[in-house]
Amino acid sequence: MAIKTPREYVETLKDGRVVFSDGKRVNDVTTDKYLKLRVGMHMIDYAFAFEPKYRDIFVEEDEDGEPVSFVYVPARNANDLLRRREIIQLVSRTCYGFPGGAKFTGIDALNALTVVSRRIDKAVGTKYIERVEKFRKLLMKNDLSVVAAVSDVKGDRSLRPSKQIDHQDYYVHVVDRRPDGLVVRGAKTHISGAPCANEILVIPSRRHTEEDKDYAVSFSIPANTKGVTIINSSREISGQGNDFDDPIFSVRHGGHGTVIFDDVFVPMERVFLNGETVFSGEIAYMFGDFHRLSGDAYKYAQLEIMIGAAALMAEYNGLEKANHIRNKLATLVIYCEGVEALGRQACVDCVLEPEFGLAYPNPLISNTAKYFFANYYHESLKLVEDIAGGLVVTSPSGKDFDNPETRDLIKKYFGGKHGIPSEHRLRMAKLVKDLGASDYDVCTIHAEGSLEAQRMSVYTLADFDRYKAAARRVARIDQKPHELFANLPKFPVPGFH
Ligand SMILES: Cc1cc2nc3c(=O)[nH]c(=O)nc-3n(C[C@H](O)[C@H](O)[C@H](O)COP(=O)(O)OP(=O)(O)OC[C@H]3O[C@@H](n4cnc5c(N)ncnc54)[C@H](O)[C@@H]3O)c2cc1C
Repeated sequence: MAIKTPREYVETLKDGRVVFSDGKRVNDVTTDKYLKLRVGMHMIDYAFAFEPKYRDIFVEEDEDGEPVSFVYVPARNANDLLRRREIIQLVSRTCYGFPGGAKFTGIDALNALTVVSRRIDKAVGTKYIERVEKFRKLLMKNDLSVVAAVSDVKGDRSLRPSKQIDHQDYYVHVVDRRPDGLVVRGAKTHISGAPCANEILVIPSRRHTEEDKDYAVSFSIPANTKGVTIINSSREISGQGNDFDDPIFSVRHGGHGTVIFDDVFVPMERVFLNGETVFSGEIAYMFGDFHRLSGDAYKYAQLEIMIGAAALMAEYNGLEKANHIRNKLATLVIYCEGVEALGRQACVDCVLEPEFGLAYPNPLISNTAKYFFANYYHESLKLVEDIAGGLVVTSPSGKDFDNPETRDLIKKYFGGKHGIPSEHRLRMAKLVKDLGASDYDVCTIHAEGSLEAQRMSVYTLADFDRYKAAARRVARIDQKPHELFANLPKFPVPGFH
């Protein structure tokens, strides 16, 4: 059966994987206090296939007529990209603004390899397409959870992988090439969901030169492969409290793993890049292209929550008609809908590779979309916190609300607008508190690539010739006409002014 139930997925995780979290070895990630929250999020990725209303969006038939998860299907056109976007948003709306994660980052890496493997095979005659397609079939037929392990630990950021001083393992690399496979060493970090994934799909995080040939490597292995150790991220605030005090983080845990490869053997059929340095950057950038769009898609679901909370706090405080509040709410809506519009446009204006029948998001717009949501997030949060008031961090706890000795006092003194229960006002304030948590803040800046990565991409992709031509035309220095402006009517209209 190619489609797994959430429970069947959970059973696959009891496989002897080596995971450490919160100071101890975790024998079963599905029962661990923190990681089970991450598993719970992953389960939502599986649950949708069994919801009759959503089945047509989440499920597709493969060539054998078997139902498979649509996310594994390569994108062929704008509609496929928009459908993937819809899937991410449905899952994120379910998981309080976060993507489930079982089939999130890994799909973007798979998509990147799908496009670039074709280019590599064409350029140098390798057989990567065959391997990538075989891997896709494995994922599809077994409905596996797959995460993208892109970010190396990196050591000294100013030094190339092979020039690191302390040791040579800051970037994942090949230490032995055998006829039947590779032996790899190094560590990838921040890998969301790695402790609870079936497959760890490794791709390069950067461009490589010939001297870094051994670092130009991509492969996938099961999370329980010998030599793989996963150290979970610290628990942050997750798993704490209750749904009154911590509406999001009582049920969410990031589960970002540092995945250490200690001389791990990778069978050759699972190797998707092996020293072809010129393609490292292409894979990394193509991943960024897909993944920034995915980030933008779930961020919209987060922003809906954020704006709703701001609007409700304004209402609960009796201030929904105040001018400055309306202005702030309008600014928030402009930000939120701008994020959505950019993301959708990256799909609509996708780039087609007709030779391979594939499509990928418009790189300029997808990078702009990620930059737009990340760069204006903190400014927007400032408006939400301003509207909500100080009780976001000073209000009494859910336990005091439940205590018969204090409940009536809290109800009386934490009221707002007539007719609004005090409990609603307090719950909404706690939601704003969760939305302002550092997990959101830092995630927005760095997840899907730090701001500079988007600026660099946008700078490289921008059509400066067009911009310059536009300016030259107005400054009347048309010495280098541009096709976009060459045939426009003359302005000012000759003889009119
Ligand atoms: C919540 C979260 C989830 C994530 N999930 C995943 C995941 O699932 N898989 C995955 O692979 N990654 C994941 N990431 C990693 C994410 O892509 C990185 O955090 C991001 O690329 C930035 O890398 P870094 O954190 O190592 O920061 P750094 O690279 O250390 O960046 C810090 C600052 O240094 C600058 N900088 C870095 N190198 C240079 C240089 N050579 N020259 C000049 N300036 C430089 C950066 O621009 C930035 O301003 C996740 C991150 C977060 C926060």
